[in-house]
Amino acid sequence: MNNSKCPPVKKFPTEGERYQRLRALQEKFTLEFSHNPQFYVRAPGRVNLIGEHVDYCGYAVFPMAVEQDILIALATNDMGKLNVHNIDKDYPDFFCNVNNFEEQPAWFNYVLCGVRGIMDEGGIEGPLVGMDMLVGGNIPPSSGLSSSSALVCAAALAVAHAHGISLTKEKLAEICAHCETHIGTQGGGMDQAISFLATEDTAKVIEFNPLRSTSVTLPPGATFVVGNSLAPMNKAANSRLAWKMYQKLGDLQKVLGKSLPQMMTLVTDTFEARPYGKDEICELLRTTPEELDQITLSENTRHIQEFKLHDRALHVFSEAHRVWQFKRVCDEQNDTALEELGRLMLDSHRSTQLLYECSHPKLDTLVELSQGVSLGARLTGAGWGGCMVALVEEKSTEAYKKMLQDRYYSQEPAAQGRDMNSILFSSRPGSGACIFVE
Ligand code: ADP
Ligand code: MG
Repeated sequence: MNNSKCPPVKKFPTEGERYQRLRALQEKFTLEFSHNPQFYVRAPGRVNLIGEHVDYCGYAVFPMAVEQDILIALATNDMGKLNVHNIDKDYPDFFCNVNNFEEQPAWFNYVLCGVRGIMDEGGIEGPLVGMDMLVGGNIPPSSGLSSSSALVCAAALAVAHAHGISLTKEKLAEICAHCETHIGTQGGGMDQAISFLATEDTAKVIEFNPLRSTSVTLPPGATFVVGNSLAPMNKAANSRLAWKMYQKLGDLQKVLGKSLPQMMTLVTDTFEARPYGKDEICELLRTTPEELDQITLSENTRHIQEFKLHDRALHVFSEAHRVWQFKRVCDEQNDTALEELGRLMLDSHRSTQLLYECSHPKLDTLVELSQGVSLGARLTGAGWGGCMVALVEEKSTEAYKKMLQDRYYSQEPAAQGRDMNSILFSSRPGSGACIFVE
């Protein structure tokens, strides 16, 4: 089901936490820029329920938006300047010429990427107008809930709206996925897609090339609890395999005409479960290390000398298969649906832990503690730290959270003195990006 609509323009809320945050943004904006914002945008973070590290191999993923988001207040200025401030002064102010800037390794780079994306692909004729922006976000950063992509999405939506341009959600998601390459992160496009395409109360299966999304209603009584391991994410370089024409495992599957379970068998029949040396791979592919570097490897992976072909490929194919199993269970809504979803989530965790090796001891601890009390738990986001997500029966949610509080967070130094609501929270599927006007 495609949803080729533009992000909605909504009325400024009249109450609630979002109202308070927008109001604070408006007051601060007026103080710092001496005029009122013309409008506001919001773009949510996300929690991926299943399908980890498969989007950039061309496979579908299963995320939902969280309530937490990035908000931006914006007004144009006639000085041709781009002023980017943050309500949190740990993020320093920045300004530049709106039509002539260079990306830099700092928080505002995510905003600049959004500006660049609309400049390059948004269909704006002529130069950009100056803009004053104030950013305020409450997605825990570097925790696997994609605060960075939400910031890019919010910035792009704000710039498009400031120039009177209406783009569909899909187009915005594609622009934002492209423009993030200016930061050097090239994901598969899940984060930007869900930030725009999310709808309240449903999770989404998101497929790529072309980008499309299908709403999936989760079985009644399903609650997802997100728990931050508080281990900072250390995004290790990960290796991607395949050769020349077929740089994505998804493309390889297509050309071979096999099902995902058949691809899993192919992996176990073809590869030994040991790492392969770079020279050995070159021999198998009849190529040189230079050509392998150039075609398949990236700046981050060129130095790697050993590749776990069996484990990494088996993760991708089995995880891609689990996404569709997860959807089928949601669609069928049998009596055992919750148990089956929980088991798939635990299988997914084992695969990221043992085959993809992107977990962290603290995430593993959270997942082990969750056994029996939740229906299943897994790391979410890139891994190597950050958050886990657990499927919990609605009636057990409080007991589950208390168990984690007693057995994990009370002994976790990084949790002491922190607001627990931003570390351990239940999440229902939230809505996608939108614009607010007063
Ligand atoms: P994730 O996307 O999983 O949250 P990343 O490490 O990719 O983690 O992105 C985190 C970065 O995004 C932060 O270091 C910061 O530069 C930027 N960021 C996130 N939230 C905000 C915010 N509210 N204000 C400014 N920058 C933010
Ligand atoms: Mg990120």
